[in-house]
Amino acid sequence: MLSYRHAFHAGNHGDVLKHLVLANTIDYLLRKETPVLYIDTHAGAGRYQLNNAMAKKTEEASKGIGSLAFSRLPESADIYQQALAGYLKQRQYPGSPLLAADLLRRQDRLALYELHPKDQTALQRLFGKDKRVQVESADGFAGLKARLPAKNSRALVLMDPSYEMKSDYQQVANSIQEGYKRMPSAVFLVWYPVVERHRINKLINDLKASKVRDLWQFELGVEADTEEYGMTASGMLVINPPWVLPEQLRTLLPAIQQQLAPDSGHSCVEQLVPE
Ligand code: SAM
Repeated sequence: MLSYRHAFHAGNHGDVLKHLVLANTIDYLLRKETPVLYIDTHAGAGRYQLNNAMAKKTEEASKGIGSLAFSRLPESADIYQQALAGYLKQRQYPGSPLLAADLLRRQDRLALYELHPKDQTALQRLFGKDKRVQVESADGFAGLKARLPAKNSRALVLMDPSYEMKSDYQQVANSIQEGYKRMPSAVFLVWYPVVERHRINKLINDLKASKVRDLWQFELGVEADTEEYGMTASGMLVINPPWVLPEQLRTLLPAIQQQLAPDSGHSCVEQLVPE
């Protein structure tokens, strides 16, 4: 039984990083007319209330998007900030599927996987009338394998597990390698939390040892690594990023880190495997 609920964490610094990368990647893909298939292997509920009991319990959003929403940031944050503005006015935060659906076009398609019954129901309600969207109550790792290669379209994959089960780390490594084998031209975005650094090192080493090319790491931290419990940083492992993305993040991540954690934070933009 899954107990993780993203509503406790929506809008935190991990979401800020993940959704900035997602929004800028989609923005770039939209420069071409060819349709995009967006696959969200771990979709969550799609939309979150920032003033309900779950959000208030952790206060994570107020330390994340709450500290940034209306700040002046480098230009490459515009697409994300503009996409959020209407939701934030209503004290809501859009999850990855909603952000993607708002940015994508009529000719694009979205395949959303979510296993938690409550979040699944929320997704169905949110996208029931959107003909571009298919919501699947199924395992996202298996779903990815079934969806790739995408026919007649480019593919963008977001893999964002809760890492509630430790086996998720290995599943991510295996599933990304399988997806890459099926469609090496797809763009893959994998989010990871820094709770136990050795698990991230292992995930990175597994990908480095695989056939994957053009692999990048983008990380944003608010505290130094610790042996204590808690997420101090998070990152994105990205395969085939738009060529402009690393440059955008080289400016953007230090600016965000300055706002969120000027003394204790860090950021990194690094190519781990060349093209
Ligand atoms: N991607 C979302 C966003 O950015 O708004 C947040 C997703 S949340 C971190 C991870 C979600 O994955 C949870 O809602 C959880 O119920 C779901 N989940 C866990 N294991 C899954 C699996 N094997 N397949 C699909 N969904 C899964």
